[in-house]
Formats: sequence, structure tokens, C-alpha cells
Amino acid sequence: MALVVQKFGGTSVADPEKILAAARKAIRAQQGGNQVVVVVSAMGHNTDLLIDLANQVNDAPPAREMDMLLSTGEQVSVALMAMAVHSLGHKAVSLTGAQMGIHTDSSFTKARIRTISSDRIRKLLDAGNIVIAAGFQGIDDEGNITTLGRGGSDTTAVALAAALRADACEIHTDVDGVYTTDPRQLPEARHMSQISYDEMLELASLGAGVMHNRSIEFAKKYDVPIHVRSSFSDVRGTLIVSESESPTSAVCGAAMTRSEARITVQGVPDVPGSSLQLFKLLANQKIDVDMIVQNVGEENRADISFTVLNEELKKATAVVKDAVKLLGATGFTTDNEVSKVSVVGLGMAKQTGVAQKMFHAVADAGINIQMITTSEIKISVLVARGQSQAALRAVHQAFVLETTPRDAVEWTELPTRKASPTDVTKLLGDLQAADMEQLRLSDISLSDNQARVTLSDVPDAPGLAAKVFDAVASAGVFVDMIVQSCDGFQGATSISFTIPRSQYEQCMEVVEGLKKQYQIRRVTGCREICKLSVRGIGLRSHTSVAIGMFDALASAGVNVEMINTSELSVNVVVASQHGQNGLASLKKKFAENLN
Ligand code: ADP
Ligand code: ASP
Ligand code: MG
Repeated sequence: MALVVQKFGGTSVADPEKILAAARKAIRAQQGGNQVVVVVSAMGHNTDLLIDLANQVNDAPPAREMDMLLSTGEQVSVALMAMAVHSLGHKAVSLTGAQMGIHTDSSFTKARIRTISSDRIRKLLDAGNIVIAAGFQGIDDEGNITTLGRGGSDTTAVALAAALRADACEIHTDVDGVYTTDPRQLPEARHMSQISYDEMLELASLGAGVMHNRSIEFAKKYDVPIHVRSSFSDVRGTLIVSESESPTSAVCGAAMTRSEARITVQGVPDVPGSSLQLFKLLANQKIDVDMIVQNVGEENRADISFTVLNEELKKATAVVKDAVKLLGATGFTTDNEVSKVSVVGLGMAKQTGVAQKMFHAVADAGINIQMITTSEIKISVLVARGQSQAALRAVHQAFVLETTPRDAVEWTELPTRKASPTDVTKLLGDLQAADMEQLRLSDISLSDNQARVTLSDVPDAPGLAAKVFDAVASAGVFVDMIVQSCDGFQGATSISFTIPRSQYEQCMEVVEGLKKQYQIRRVTGCREICKLSVRGIGLRSHTSVAIGMFDALASAGVNVEMINTSELSVNVVVASQHGQNGLASLKKKFAENLN
């Protein structure tokens, strides 16, 4: 008998009618010959209301108590859902996270799932019950209730689908699938027929709230196809699987994180370990750092810019104040009115000119780009918050995302799992023994054929990046990593990028030619740099990876010149002479996480 996991989000169980409608869907699935596990979220905005309540009695509620409180939201929904199934004449049993055996670590409010013991669920299913599982929660080794982070019910659903080897995992929500961008932001967004795990993972981490990013890590790791569809109808939704919707499109979607804040630490002594200390201090306070841009500095000093979520700015500022003293930096600036706009696509790894197109779109809308980071499948720019919506629309238009690509895949049947029986046994072994969300690295590598070019102290004006990369592209130079940061000096910016070593001289000539026209104060470069990459699943949400890399490299005396991070890989640029040494130190550091 096939097994289906159906997840219903908050709006889909917001009132008694909706709960009954969801119960009918589950019953229909059971009558179709399936065993059914239903995962539910808290009703409507209940979680927000509970957070609000907590803040009214305590400015900084203890995380353990927060989880105790928040888990009640889902407990209400599972009980009501089970009652609804009963009222419709069918059997159902509700279970909390602890009751169904979801064991997590003890990082309250953002706990990670370690193991799931599926025995109890299986017994209940075999006895003809629909099992109603509380999303978003688990239990730690001491028996404390934990929660998985906002939006975490998606992760419960996919993790259960993995542990139970379900045949289908359906995410029922208030949209009928995944769109090219949030349809609430841009009505012209297009419904996608399918999207790859890697693309969805990046989009989710870059602000596409339709799926919890960690749920996609599970899906990818344990080969769970996901069907995102509407709670309110039976129309076909979007499949999240290994392959993209269109094999030739460079970009599949765009996303925005509205409430970001930027911090720039100025004049950091450019010696191995400086960035490490800064990011370690932030990680100790559990502050997630996002876009990181380190500038190649003057007089052996560098500027390090990064972004954090706006709500964490206060905490981050306190840490940075101390860090400035500790590191002997010259000072820092902050801006809490910024947003990040990103485009994502597996296809961009194979095409040139994608970044340039994005910069053009933003420039043509008259919007200044304050920071840039790129990785193999995403490009992010930081813009003033008031212009973020316009920037999102401009890039959505530039990549013609509202139109279905000609080679878009249209699926007709749900896919079956691809994993072979031996893979399945291995995975199930893992599920019982190991940490399901443990960091798993697939490879650590060195590519030693690149060069770096840096333009410093360029007056910051809309269109600058577009113009620079136009000139570079028309000379046929292939640009890989790009970073732009702001604020080295008031109103000045600096751009670094990597290119093939064989094009170094040619590129320097082009850039020297731009110096006068754009009042670029300094052009520097390094003919011999190399890129060290650590690849795996869910790297960015494991902040420890970037820190571990800095740590290993600093102890080996290797200075990091540039860094970029994505969900798929963390890359650092170092001088070629340190390549082998750096590689060895990373391999040693991550030995036990390598597959
Ligand atoms: P649920 O309560 O069902 O988990 P969420 O509110 O978490 O629902 O997620 C659904 C919402 O995600 C949609 O209403 C939509 O506004 C938003 N969203 C953001 N990005 C996208 C996207 N790319 N495609 C579809 N919906 C998106
Ligand atoms: N109820 C939780 C939240 O609102 C989890 C979820 O809905 O996925 O974040
Ligand atoms: Mg959600």
C-alpha cells in the first residue's frame, strides 16, 4: 500500500471549515488506497500571537520556554484535525513531536532533527488510522520540547516522508505551487511546473517563504519528491525534484529578503584570522551572517561588509563594537534600511553575461547597487529598502520570468523514487543511527587557474557594475566570482572579481582603460590566485562551515582574499602559493564530514 504525507500550513487550517476541508482531503487520499500521515501547522497566525504574548511578559523570553509555548499551537491543530476526521466517520490519532519520536538536538527555537523512530506511526497506520502529526516540534535527549524554526512544519513533513519512505509528499498551502517569485509581491509571477532541489533550496534561503529551506535539504538528501499544491483545490501544483523546469534557462526565479541590515567593519588588519575572529564572535551570539564581502584593502587593512536580518542588528552591533577594539579595526558603519534581491538558476553556471544582465536591469531602473555577491547558481544585490520592490520587478522582467520557457518540462505523473534498493537500505541505516541533519560534504577541492582583479575607491553611482562588466564582457573575459562592497570611504565602492588566469593581462588592460572615465582611484590585481571549495548539502545553514574554513586556513597561516557562500558550496580565494597548504588544512578539518 502506498504511503502519502500531506502537510497543511497555517492558513489551510485557520478555521473549523478549513480543518474539515483538510480532513476530507486526507480521507479521500486514504480511500484512494493509501496510508496517510497528515502534518499540520498552528492555526492561522497563532504562532505570531504566541510570540507576541511571550514578548509581553519578557523582553527576551528564554528559548526553552519559548519552545514550550510555541509547540502548543500545533498541538491544538492536531487534536482538532483528528476530531474532524472522526466526525467524518474515519479513524485518526494525533501525535505530538515527542510522541511520534522526532528527536532533535537542544538548540531551542532552531533545533535540528537527529532521528525519527517511525514504529509508532507505522503501527497506527497499519491499524487503519490516519495519523495526524504535529509539525515544527520535537524532543531533545533530556525530554525538553524543541521547535525547528519558523516555517518548520515543512521540514517535519519532508523528514517524516523520508523516514517512512513515503511514496508522495504533498505540501498543501495557500498558493497552488511555486512561482517565479512571491506572487504577493509581483502579480506577474508565473506558476512553475517543476523546480530543482538546488534552486528551491537557494530561493527558500533567499526569501521565498513558500518552503522552509531545511525541508529541501532533507528532500535532496533522502530523495523525496515534493508536490507543492493548493489546499483549496485539486489542481496540479509544482514538483520539487532533481531536475530544473527548463534545461536552457539561466535563471528560474527571483526572491527578496526585505528586512536586512548591513554592517561594514572598516580598516581591519589584513592578516590571517581577522575575519575568523569577527565571525566567531557573531556565531557565539547565534547571529546568522549573510552576504559577506571582504575587500582587498589598502596598507594591509581590509573592510569587511556583511548583512544580518534587521531584527538581529542590535545584537550584532554590540558584538561588532567589541570586535573593532579586539581586532584593532578603525571603525564600523551600519545601514538598517536595505533589502536583498537575488536571482537563482542552475543554468547560470554554464552561461556568461547573467550577472551583467541583472546589474543592467537594476541600473536601468535607476537603482543603486550597494553590495554584490555571486555564487555558481545565484546572484544577490543589496539595495535601499524603498527600492527593493522595483528592483525585484526589474530583474523579473529582465529574465522574462513571467513567460514559460519553450523547453519547460510539463509533468503528468508523480515521479517515483530513483534511489536503488541498496541506497535505500543505506539511507534507512543512516536514519536510525545518525543525525539526519548532520552536515554532509561531498567534496573539497582546489582550482588553481584563476586571477583576481580589484577596482578600489570608485565613486558609487547607479549603473557602475553594469558598465564595468559590460566592458569586461565585450572583451570576451569570462567572469566567475563577483563581490562589491560599499563604504570603504564615504560614497565609494570597490569591486573584486575572478577571471581565468589566461585572460588576466587582457582584462587588466580593459579595466585600466576605464579608470579615467569612472574615476577609479586604484586598480590592483593578482595573477595567481586559487579557489578552495567545500561542497555539500545545506552549507549556509550550517554556519559552522564558513567559520571552520576560516579557522583551518588561519591556523595554516593562509589569508582569505574573497569568500562566497551558497547552500551548495563555500568558496574562498587565496593566493596560489597557499593553495595546496590550504587544501590540506581543509581536508583535515572536515575529514569526518566527508562522504
Ligand atoms: P503555509 O502556512 O502553508 O506554510 P506560507 O505562508 O509559509 O504558507 O507559504 C506560502 C506563501 O509563500 C504564499 O502565500 C506566498 O505569498 C509566499 N511565497 C513566497 N515566495 C513564493 C514563491 N516563489 N512561490 C509561491 N509562493 C511564495
Ligand atoms: N507554526 C510554525 C510557524 O508559524 C511552523 C509552521 O507553520 O511551519 O512558524
Ligand atoms: Mg510555511
